[in-house]
Amino acid sequence: MSFVRPSKDYIFYGQTTSLCEVCLRLVPAKIAFEEGEVFFLKRCTEHGAQKTKVASDIAYYKSQKDWLKPGDRPLAFQSRTERGCPYDCGLCPDHEQHSYLALIEINDECNLTCPVCFADSSPKKTRHRSLAEVDAMLETLVESEREPDLVQISGGEPTIHPQILDILKLAKSKPIRHVMLNTNGIRIARDRAFVAELAKLKPGFEVYLQFDSMKKSALENLRGADLRRVRESALANLEEFGVSTTLVCVIKRGQNDEEIGAIVRHALTYKCVRGITFQPVQDAGRNENFDKNRDRFLLTDIRREIGLNSGVFDLDDVIPLPCNPDEIAIAYGLRDGTRVTPITKLIPKDELLAAAPNTISFEKYPELQRRIYNLMSLSATGEATKTALGDLLCCLPKVEVPSDLGYDKVFRVVIVQFLDRYNFCIGAVKRSCIHFVTPDRKIYPFDTYNLFYRDGIDRRLREPVHV
Ligand code: SF4
Ligand code: SF4
Repeated sequence: MSFVRPSKDYIFYGQTTSLCEVCLRLVPAKIAFEEGEVFFLKRCTEHGAQKTKVASDIAYYKSQKDWLKPGDRPLAFQSRTERGCPYDCGLCPDHEQHSYLALIEINDECNLTCPVCFADSSPKKTRHRSLAEVDAMLETLVESEREPDLVQISGGEPTIHPQILDILKLAKSKPIRHVMLNTNGIRIARDRAFVAELAKLKPGFEVYLQFDSMKKSALENLRGADLRRVRESALANLEEFGVSTTLVCVIKRGQNDEEIGAIVRHALTYKCVRGITFQPVQDAGRNENFDKNRDRFLLTDIRREIGLNSGVFDLDDVIPLPCNPDEIAIAYGLRDGTRVTPITKLIPKDELLAAAPNTISFEKYPELQRRIYNLMSLSATGEATKTALGDLLCCLPKVEVPSDLGYDKVFRVVIVQFLDRYNFCIGAVKRSCIHFVTPDRKIYPFDTYNLFYRDGIDRRLREPVHV
């Protein structure tokens, strides 16, 4: 009998640095492929071995790196690179991407107490930032970006800030290309006069409306309240006043993951809806009773749902966002009423993107590559989308640019998978392009801010352990 050498039951694809899921110390993580899925295998000297699924589609996971492009440098840094990532945030000069999307939190108070709130906001918190503090935050961003692409005024619930309209006007007075209001929609549903005031901020203004689900049970689980009527009333008001709207849905396994396709189709029944952002539920903030195995529904899971069940986009239409392909996927379509023609279908896909890795031959099409990158940039909102889309369509030989091409002809689905203690990856976090700006004039990646830096959070930065 010949000897059969035992082999591992997974393919070792590489290694990164992640976090111990108990103490948040930096620990090495093997990247392992096993039965079609991707896992981090970690070991902490204090808390032992940990295994966490980070993707459910190996081909897509590998293809993410094929979309990489050189990062854009911020014009200013607010901290120094001294201790090493992620202990120098602020941003430090070692960061690999500028702020495509910046969040400005103007209050902590909220009229909801969502179990999944990453900011841990509630009616019990009463802090509202002054106009001067908000101005300082906006100026910090302008110093770093000169002409920031996209700013979200967020909270807490920003619409209950006593000076919300002044704050929005202040943001609009800065050289910011697109301003969004990040809201749970309660005031928008109940206060028509307020929506009329919002409509005066057009163009370059959009409402980022929490939506999540059309089911009572899922809304109660995620938001602590049955918000179905609030959502529909808010959408009716935004439709009436023609305010561009993006729906945002936090997706939790077993709650609303089966609705993803239906939500895409429902969104298309509103002319004002420009797209949907899906976010896998993450372990951040309040996130009561979170169970990593029961609750997590990953970027690749959402992508699969959109591809198989939306009837709008196919799997190959949802591609990694070049500025941060590990955390963000995106699909663009040209919209005619409820009908959507995916843009990615118009691109010679076989040449540009194959499921298998290393088969993209962008080098042959540098101009097309540039135009795709411009369109796919998170900053492509409003007029920027119209221009980038027009540019791209001109580049495609068989496609005519519609004569009335405008932002209302665009429909976009984005999946943003933030990093938490489970999927944290030092390589991915350095490319983060979604940032918080804080009143102490710092800028933090969304992921590290919620993990380590948000005030009130009871997690100290820990020294790395050597294993
Ligand atoms: S995440 Fe970015 S800003 Fe923070 S320490 Fe790492 S490189 Fe610096
Ligand atoms: S998620 Fe938004 S709406 Fe819910 S408690 Fe937090 S800030 Fe309020």
